[in-house]
Amino acid sequence: MARDKAVLWHPFTQMQDWVRDVPGPPLCIVAGDGNWLVDVDGNRYLDGVASLWCNTHGHRHPSIDSAIRDQLDRIAHTTLLGLTHPKAIEAAEAIVDLLPTGLERVFFSENGASAVEVALKMALRYWQLEGEPDRTTFVSLEDAYHGDTIGAVSVGGIDLFHEAFGPLLFPGVHAPTARRRPDGSKPSLDELLSGMEAALRATSGRVAAVVIEPLVQGAAGMQCFPDGYVRGVRNLCDDEGTLLICDEVATGFGRTGKMFAVEHDGVAPDIIVLGKGITGGYLPMSATVTTGGVYDAFLGLTEEGRHLFHGHTYSGNPLAAAACVATIEVFETERTLEQMAVNDHVLAAHLEKISHLGPVVDVRRRGYMVGIELDPDTVATPLPARAVCQAVRLDGVVLRNLGDVVVWMPPLSITSDEIDLLGSATAKAIGALR
Ligand code: PMP
Repeated sequence: MARDKAVLWHPFTQMQDWVRDVPGPPLCIVAGDGNWLVDVDGNRYLDGVASLWCNTHGHRHPSIDSAIRDQLDRIAHTTLLGLTHPKAIEAAEAIVDLLPTGLERVFFSENGASAVEVALKMALRYWQLEGEPDRTTFVSLEDAYHGDTIGAVSVGGIDLFHEAFGPLLFPGVHAPTARRRPDGSKPSLDELLSGMEAALRATSGRVAAVVIEPLVQGAAGMQCFPDGYVRGVRNLCDDEGTLLICDEVATGFGRTGKMFAVEHDGVAPDIIVLGKGITGGYLPMSATVTTGGVYDAFLGLTEEGRHLFHGHTYSGNPLAAAACVATIEVFETERTLEQMAVNDHVLAAHLEKISHLGPVVDVRRRGYMVGIELDPDTVATPLPARAVCQAVRLDGVVLRNLGDVVVWMPPLSITSDEIDLLGSATAKAIGALR
């Protein structure tokens, strides 16, 4: 730990706390085993946030491990700029097979934020190529989080993360979030859609795309939108004649109980952004997938310069692509979504109990995306959600909070016994807050 503290700068971390062991000594993870993490002293912890929301089938899954090893025996990396390789092709085919009809062209990147940048540039450039160069404005949601690169932050809306970078950002327009109001009420479907309609009316003819996290705004604290919202936004985009970008970096690959969140409303966006679970949480990979219509606009002679001027060194990396193909196969072989549905009542029962604990003001959930919001004014402990995440470690659970929200984002492979541990450890820690 002394060596860590001497050299590393951890993401989204107040390093002054980290080096002083606040709120507690940091864990050093040396191994994984199914849904568990193992620290340097051999202690085992349930991976309650799926290693930052990305692990789907557990750690060291035999078939994903062997797919990567197999690829390693062939080649670890080759480029998609001017060359191709079988695993990128297989991965793209497998992704297109899973996605709603019409999303058929896959552009690989390395992380969620980059894939969002690609979506924004694709949309902007699409309208230039279509002869509507005034469509340069992006409508996104209040409290949105799409990653930490400048374009992604520009369409973001979490002041704590984003405000300081204001001078670097391009302007946009925000539509309302589903966040709970101070009086405890939540906006209705009609209110949310009229807010989006108003944002589109104010920018009519200038909108390049509407960008949303469909169904659940993750980093905003697992804010859940009512059914019908995504369909409503799709219809509004069609009326305005603009593109819909759905960022499924967090919601995609089974998180919400369906393979993609847009399926709950039976909707297809013009561009979908995928990341995190795309490799089962094994290797950095993301994808921006669009329709034949958007793709076709970029076709022409090389010297016309219509092609998409964007790419990353490790776009479509073969090891990551092998992990992606294997991950998608495991959804089939282990019937992951069916198994989640079987365990759903176990999760629901624990949350029902937790919702009655004193400091809990709201419990939000869609599939295996859970936010337990605490009211910090009801307890003396400062930063109570952080304290809860620290306390559950004593019971062998790793969690990470978002502000006042305790988050559960377990691997989709979590068993009912493990859900019991997650539930009882969290309830105990919240109950112990003073
Ligand atoms: N979009 C959403 C909805 C996310 O939740 C995240 C990450 N939490 C990102 C984009 C950014 O992904 P990455 O951290 O891989 O850049």
